[in-house]
This record gives sequence, structure tokens and C-alpha cells, in this order.
Amino acid sequence: MRKLDTKTIVVASHNEGKIREIRDLIGPLGFSAKSAADLEFEEPDETGTTYEENARIKALASARASGLPALSDDSGLAVDALDGAPGVYTANWAERADGSRDFGMAMEKVETALQEKGAATADRRKARFVSVLCLAWPDGHTELFRGEIEGHVVWPPRGTLGFGYDPVFQPDGYDITFGEMPAEAKHGWKPGDSEALSHRARAFKLFVETCLDG
Ligand code: IMP
Repeated sequence: MRKLDTKTIVVASHNEGKIREIRDLIGPLGFSAKSAADLEFEEPDETGTTYEENARIKALASARASGLPALSDDSGLAVDALDGAPGVYTANWAERADGSRDFGMAMEKVETALQEKGAATADRRKARFVSVLCLAWPDGHTELFRGEIEGHVVWPPRGTLGFGYDPVFQPDGYDITFGEMPAEAKHGWKPGDSEALSHRARAFKLFVETCLDG
């Protein structure tokens, strides 16, 4: 395991929701970070078939372009009744013909697929969010961290906080969706805490424990 010996990194993402969450998480640790979007790096094609492969592609592209360590996130929503879909293709389900993204439409696609399966009760609508973070160095070394959170898909969507599919995901043990949680509650973690809630914060906690001292 390689330790990170700088506090200047690139957040290897063009997704505003993810960038905001990763900034929230690294901020208290004293990092300064520009995103791949801020630096106007081209978005690499996500040609992998796993979260790990895609996270590596994104982190390596930013590390090589910037000469700095880069932290990426590849994530998705896996719905049991849909055999794990949309999974690695979660962002693609939101793509419109003109290339823009519409997450209202994407959430409706998930709901339509669940209704076609007759999945009406919470136990037939089980799902998990997965996040794989990749820290890459310009020399090509990478470290990967995976976090998951179990829950179920609700309908209609609830809440306007967060991003992506947050309004339809209710984590186990809660009666509100991620879309109804302020960012701190969704992360459920700050430096020093032994537990985290969201998939991304769980992966991030592993990154901190592995790559940072203390
Ligand atoms: P990708 O990692 O760029 O392939 O995109 C993953 C997609 O999964 C995002 O565009 C979001 O729609 C969705 N997603 C990942 N994490 C979250 C989350 O924390 N909340 C809501 N949606 C998420």
C-alpha cells in the first residue's frame, strides 16, 4: 500500500455531484483539490466492465495529465430484482439522444423495470449503491477502495438534496431517502469517526485508513 505524501490532488471527475461530495470529504483533512472539470481535462471513455476498471481509467487519465495524484470515483446503483442493473451503466441510463443527462428519466426507467417485475414491496426492491474510489499516481501506481450501502428503491422520488438517483434510494434503517438528507448526514462520517453511511464515504474511510497517516 502506497501512502499519499502530498495534500494537493486532482479530483478525477466531471460529475458536479460527486466532486462536491469528494470535496466535502477531503476538505477537513486539509487537502486542496482541483477537479478534472476545473482543469478542463477531456473526459476519458469508460470502456471497462467493472467499477474498478472504470475508476482506474479516470484516475490514471487525470494523474498523467496533471502530474499529481488523482482520486476518482466510479459508482452505481445495483437493483437485486433487475439482476444488478443498472450497475456499472447507472450513468448511461440517464443519457438522452442529444448527450445530456436526465436523472428523472433514469429513475423512471428503474421504476418501470421494477413494475414489470411486479416488485411492489420493499423486500422485492432491494438495492445497493456501490462506490469504487481509485487513487492513481502519475507513475501509474493505483490503489482501489470499495464502499457499499444497502437499501431499497422507493417511488415516487423524495427530496431535492444530493444528486443522481438519491431521491429514490432509502438506506436500510432510515425512513428518509438520500435525497432528503443533508450532505453531512448522507456521508455519516468525518475524520476520526469509526462508521460511515454512504457508499462513497465508506470507500473514502478506507482510503484515509490506508493512504493517509493517522
Ligand atoms: P459513473 O461513476 O460516472 O459511471 O456514474 C455513476 C452514476 O451513478 C452517477 O452519474 C449517479 O447517477 C449514480 N450515483 C453514484 N453515486 C450516487 C450517489 O451517491 N447518489 C445518487 N446517485 C449516485
